[in-house]
Amino acid sequence: MKTEYDNQQHKTDRNAAIRMLQAQDKALEELYRRADAVRQQFMGNEVFIRGIVEFSNVCARNCYYCGIRAANERVKRYTMSADEIVEVVRHFPANRQGTVVLQSGEASAAFGDEALGKLIRRIKRKTTVAVTVCIGNRSREVYQYWRDCGMDRYLIRFETSDPDLYARLHPDSSLATRLDCLTILRDLGVQTGSGFMIGVPGETVEILANNILLCRKLDLDMIGIGPFIPHPDTPLGNTPNAYAADPEMFLKALAVLRLFNPDAHIPATTAYDAIFPGTGRDLALQRGANVFMPNATPNRYRNNYLLYPGKPCVDESADQCGACMIHRIQALGRTLGQGPGHSKKRAIEKIP
Ligand code: SF4
Repeated sequence: MKTEYDNQQHKTDRNAAIRMLQAQDKALEELYRRADAVRQQFMGNEVFIRGIVEFSNVCARNCYYCGIRAANERVKRYTMSADEIVEVVRHFPANRQGTVVLQSGEASAAFGDEALGKLIRRIKRKTTVAVTVCIGNRSREVYQYWRDCGMDRYLIRFETSDPDLYARLHPDSSLATRLDCLTILRDLGVQTGSGFMIGVPGETVEILANNILLCRKLDLDMIGIGPFIPHPDTPLGNTPNAYAADPEMFLKALAVLRLFNPDAHIPATTAYDAIFPGTGRDLALQRGANVFMPNATPNRYRNNYLLYPGKPCVDESADQCGACMIHRIQALGRTLGQGPGHSKKRAIEKIP
């Protein structure tokens, strides 16, 4: 059976992406220079700051790589109250954070869909921040309800573009359903973000190139990617990253992603600091990224939201993370983004 990957244009683009992913020496320097120049041309010098609030670590799913999967009994489960969340978000403007990313496990009844809608309304009423939600697969009706409540954006990573590999990593969901969710969100006029892990066991460089090209095909407003890091309390705990011997691949993937998606917001995700301690997110910002996402979850919960081990910034307060991030952005000669940092791709429809 022919697939879209047999299409000649796709093959040409995939080969070009693979060549870039294999760049070394002068060619690698040139790749990074071009990625940074394209970021500057399309996204400017600003770095937008989106604070992440990990409001619940309760999850009904069992993704084989994830530290908070339902079957991991070593995790102390928590769910923040709406009052606690609003209190955290009220401090965002003082820390130059124009967006809150509300993130939790998936398919959990710990914080119901209606309660989340009410929370979105409260945040929009009491603050000026944009609201991004990242809690997985839902029906069109639920996405529409949250949209009506004021949700600006939704993040839902497809993790890998290869359906068989997806099935081997996710025992209770399918790639097709994930992609359907993205289509629905786009139809509803929600700014849509997705992305993938780099180096999950079984990934080839062809799959990595296809991941990058799928982001372009989906015409995403935001794209988040990060290295797979094995968590010891998961079935993949002893399986190394496919590029463990060549961590430069994580930065190359980011640079190539920028070249194929010039006007998408691309965050320097926290996992880069786990791989390159103290410098990872700075390197990401110099190789195509234009967004920083500090952890704004209250300290008392942070240690219980470990999707992977060695997660940075679990002991710092939200204010410390905010100050550190501003320093890092300015030390790179970049400016702090003003306002919510909406999609650069399309006019943002005002929610009635
Ligand atoms: S990746 Fe998301 S859906 Fe999968 S187990 Fe972790 S929190 Fe749950």
